[in-house]
Amino acid sequence: MTPGERALARVYLDAVRRNCERLQLLLADGAQLCAVVKADGYGHGAAECARAAQEGGAAWLAVATAGEAADLRHGGIEGRVLVMGALTAADTRTAIDAEADLVVSDRRFLDSIPARAAHPVQVHVKLDTGMGRLGANDPEEARALIDQADSAPGVELTGLMTHFATADEPGDLYFAAQLERFRAFVGDLGERADTLLVHAANSAATFRDRACHFDMVRCGVAIYGLDPFGEDPRPRGLDPALGLESYVAAVKRFEPGDSAGYGRLWTAVEPTFVATIPIGYGDGWRRALTNDCDVLVRGRRRPLVGAVSMDNVTIDVGPETDVEPGDAAVLIGAQGEERILCEEVARRLGTINYEVVCGLGPRVTRRHER
Ligand SMILES: *Cc1c(COP(=O)(O)O)cnc(C)c1O
Repeated sequence: MTPGERALARVYLDAVRRNCERLQLLLADGAQLCAVVKADGYGHGAAECARAAQEGGAAWLAVATAGEAADLRHGGIEGRVLVMGALTAADTRTAIDAEADLVVSDRRFLDSIPARAAHPVQVHVKLDTGMGRLGANDPEEARALIDQADSAPGVELTGLMTHFATADEPGDLYFAAQLERFRAFVGDLGERADTLLVHAANSAATFRDRACHFDMVRCGVAIYGLDPFGEDPRPRGLDPALGLESYVAAVKRFEPGDSAGYGRLWTAVEPTFVATIPIGYGDGWRRALTNDCDVLVRGRRRPLVGAVSMDNVTIDVGPETDVEPGDAAVLIGAQGEERILCEEVARRLGTINYEVVCGLGPRVTRRHER
């Protein structure tokens, strides 16, 4: 068998499309889906996933940076794009050139937006209801921003937004408090709010409470079939969109006492065979997975043994193995009856699924499939 790619992320665009369709079934009446494709679509490929999300009914796209908005346009993506992050003066020009909507958190930024003759710059005023990052700190300040945006030449107020800090922690009370603060703010605006696109929810909040859907939800992690609560995404109807593969480059017999990898962090206690898989922390397969994850080969879980190095990992394939060079190795995804979820890898690393997919490096080829 000839090996495929050294390190390959297969991205199933139909899964992204279906996840978007599924999310929309949850939405309160009339609420729209904004698909968040920042950080190269959480490592899945931004433009490809944006298109799949639009096919799945996403009315809006969101990114974090101006460069990401420009990249979407260069990738031929049309439709509404919201840039959610902080912007320097140069970023602001880039975002406006990409015909993206901007988020306004303070007067200084609003003053700095250059008026454009052709199209007004569309802005969303952000209220910080408790995330403690961007956003106007109190409702009065946000109210003043709304009035200022209404009277600024070349600017058109489009939306009102906030962001939850603990939506993924079921049962905590902070989420409800943030929601209440935002609801009160929107309520106090009266009819002015009716003409604006009101949005607050990320993926976790979208699943958690219809009361926070307002006019739009901003879902990232869930559109990629990753669970916002770090559990198995499938019972929630989400379909993992990314599989990570490599292949068996070598198989060696180990005698008791033989060791694999830097630092001799694993030593064979019995005779066995060890296979080398050419993927490592240089690809985003983190070194903290040393002696602590499984890789699927020939439909079975094989423990990773020894240190994860920059370009390789080693797995124990047992004393009587049929594993051969060229066999496919699956690090995330299914093979035969077995499956390794991104959430499992995240748990082993003590992190969240978001970080696992965002950490896959440029040496990993992305192959977009249907
Ligand atoms: C990243 C981001 C989202 C999407 O969050 P998920 O948890 O991935 O759904 C929504 N809103 C803002 C402001 C964000 O930065």
